[in-house]
Amino acid sequence: MTYVLFNNEVTTREHVKIDMEDRGYNFGDGIYEVIPVYKTKTVAMEEHLQRFEESASKLEIQLPYDRNVMSTLLNELKTKNKITDGIIYVQMTRGVSPRAHLYERNATGLITGFTREMPFPVDQKQTGIQAYVTEDIRWLRCDIKTINLLGNTMVKRMATDNLCQEGIMHRNGTMTEGSSSNLFMVKDGTIYTHPATNLILNGITRQIVIELARTNGYNVVEETFTTQQLQEADEAFITSTTQEVTPIAQIHGNIEAQFAVGPVTKTLQQLYAEYINENRK
Ligand code: PLP
Repeated sequence: MTYVLFNNEVTTREHVKIDMEDRGYNFGDGIYEVIPVYKTKTVAMEEHLQRFEESASKLEIQLPYDRNVMSTLLNELKTKNKITDGIIYVQMTRGVSPRAHLYERNATGLITGFTREMPFPVDQKQTGIQAYVTEDIRWLRCDIKTINLLGNTMVKRMATDNLCQEGIMHRNGTMTEGSSSNLFMVKDGTIYTHPATNLILNGITRQIVIELARTNGYNVVEETFTTQQLQEADEAFITSTTQEVTPIAQIHGNIEAQFAVGPVTKTLQQLYAEYINENRK
């Protein structure tokens, strides 16, 4: 039997009833997190739940439970579903109200969650992916991990239609991030990535990788870079919870380029794998 999270209950899916006037359904008015599970244990649950709280606060969504209750519920869900390697997905919408743009600040929200067994990428981490470069058409609060992801899903579709595994975006020639990942490039041994502003999601993997890189002596520059600088980079890679540290082998679309799976990317993959091993809880 597979279990899901429905508010504060770990239950079966038949027990979940969601109103057609839930604001998540009408407006995409909600937030989410994806937490990785490695060999039955979670990694960085605290960091993900902290970002969940930050997203809630930015949207004035009232969380009903504190971090301890959330993590207890998510661990119960993971254990009941006997997840070995995969993800825990949790989302919260602002809940039910007659459809109207104006939201109430004290609304009672709706929390749902599920788990998914999912192998982490092996081949792509060795060979690299094809990334499709296109314009960033999203709104200006990409720092909020909202379920309202149409800009991201359209870019993913476009990338796939162009035989690429990820879409990477630029605003007026300044690279921002991937459709579901953060973007890095390496030039002359220095690692560059977009600063954590309103124009990107500050990925948990991004933060871990930056920290690991700095601790291991790399110079990490959190400054913007252009499509042209990306084209002239030595290495490029993306990071995310599900894609870990994945090299980009080729880019297509608005610009074309080829990269080797280089030494900096390989070292960061290794450091990230060690971090995962040492931080399973
Ligand atoms: N940027 C976007 C737009 C994302 O959707 C994601 C993950 O879903 C990321 C970055 C990477 O975030 P994380 O490393 O926390 O998974």
